[in-house]
Amino acid sequence: MNVTYVSTRNAEEEVTASQAILKGLSSDGGLFVPTALPKLDKDWDEFAAMDYQQTAYEVMKLLLTDFTEEELKGCIKSAYDEKFDTPEIAPLKEADGAYFLELFHGATIAFKDMALSILPHLMITAARKNKIENDIVILTATSGDTGKAALAGFADVKGTKIIVFYPKNGVSVIQEKQMVTQKGENTFVVGIHGNFDQAQTGVKRMFSDPQLGEELAEAGFQFSSANSINIGRLVPQIVYYVYAYAKLYKKGAIGKGEKVNIDVPTGNFGNILAAYYAMNMGLPVNRLICASNENKVLYDFFSTGTYDKNREFFLTTSPSMDILVSSNLERLIYRIAGNDPKKNTALMKQLQEEGKYEITPEMREKLSVFYGNYCTQEETAQAIHSLYEKAGYVIDTHTAVAKGVYDKYHKETGDTAKTIIASTASPFKFTRAVLSAIDPKYADAKEDDFALADILSGISGVKVPAAIETIRNAPVRHDTQCEVGEMPQVVKKFLGI
Ligand SMILES: *Cc1c(COP(=O)(O)O)cnc(C)c1O
Repeated sequence: MNVTYVSTRNAEEEVTASQAILKGLSSDGGLFVPTALPKLDKDWDEFAAMDYQQTAYEVMKLLLTDFTEEELKGCIKSAYDEKFDTPEIAPLKEADGAYFLELFHGATIAFKDMALSILPHLMITAARKNKIENDIVILTATSGDTGKAALAGFADVKGTKIIVFYPKNGVSVIQEKQMVTQKGENTFVVGIHGNFDQAQTGVKRMFSDPQLGEELAEAGFQFSSANSINIGRLVPQIVYYVYAYAKLYKKGAIGKGEKVNIDVPTGNFGNILAAYYAMNMGLPVNRLICASNENKVLYDFFSTGTYDKNREFFLTTSPSMDILVSSNLERLIYRIAGNDPKKNTALMKQLQEEGKYEITPEMREKLSVFYGNYCTQEETAQAIHSLYEKAGYVIDTHTAVAKGVYDKYHKETGDTAKTIIASTASPFKFTRAVLSAIDPKYADAKEDDFALADILSGISGVKVPAAIETIRNAPVRHDTQCEVGEMPQVVKKFLGI
């Protein structure tokens, strides 16, 4: 089956998978969505016998249909290699009655590596297939983790440049250090005086600015995106849900076809959307649990049918989820609107103009597989603390939001379906918050985050990851800051135009 991609805001513009990956965002501001979600064509006994790379091929071939087998396998091989610190790539750990799918074993110890280690290879392959001669300029807004993972993926990749914007005061010490020490002649990192939503809106605006696009083309450049709006991010994320399910089946924790819950700490709605796509492709899912922090715009959406970003914005201990406009939700809205670009566009216009929209009761009915809830920062810390006490297992603040929400879900519903919790970052990325959750005496610890990493290593019995060791004494290479309104000038300056 040949799967093509259309924009959520215009059914006319139909492109191939490789073109969608190259463009990132459709020119009308919409997101590319597949025109079909084909069923998985291997059964669970077959998946149970596969390693991560084989699973990746079997899943991705269904959606990236204009890539040849050789191309796709080449991309997978280059992505999922020794950059990961375990050949399992995404290990599944049982603790306190749930299964934690550890998605943080890549180069930057957050789940963004799962997709961003393959995206540069997909993009270079796509450029070759489409005979693109321009250099590709990756523009990325980050709430902390995407930036570093994208920088690591694209650093010194020929024919590309990468520019990352992050909220200057909205990321953890370690997240910032990871980005500003990034090597590579084609990398550029900018702290903006604003929050993540402003960075993301600024990036989207540059994408749909025709004049800027022209200036770039004249200079031999074109934009693409490494944000989770790029379909080349979303497709690789479907893989690990299939892989995790097959592992549970292989160990006898579930029977063939038994439904599981998938619980995801959510920000931009990319990771959980991948789980939803996996379900539509045949993964047996009972509930998709959407876990939010105090920026609980998604919880309110699932409980009321109204999406409303007009509210106070909180900086929390789970910064990668400090988001009020979850970009990928648009892909879900489009789907529950019956794949109708007109209905979707009208809602997105309301979001832009009034900051909110309400979906119809028919659309709401199609959301019944989702369960939304949230955790306060206290509840998040409590989740880390009690899991450590019960099981000796240390989780990061984002994963803890999901664990806390799972506990609420379990208490509310009594549902006993096996549950996979997406574990999205290593606790070593958020040492201060994690340690003070385990023991409040660390709340005002004078040690810097690196010294705290050593303490955490002692407590958890887990070695300090290489990703932390390598930035400990690395020199700062990027110190540019700018106002939100200056983002296009900064881009042009970096490109020399
Ligand atoms: C990005 C991120 C999230 C949120 O994922 P989305 O796909 O944006 O919903 C959660 N946890 C961590 C650690 C992240 O880096």
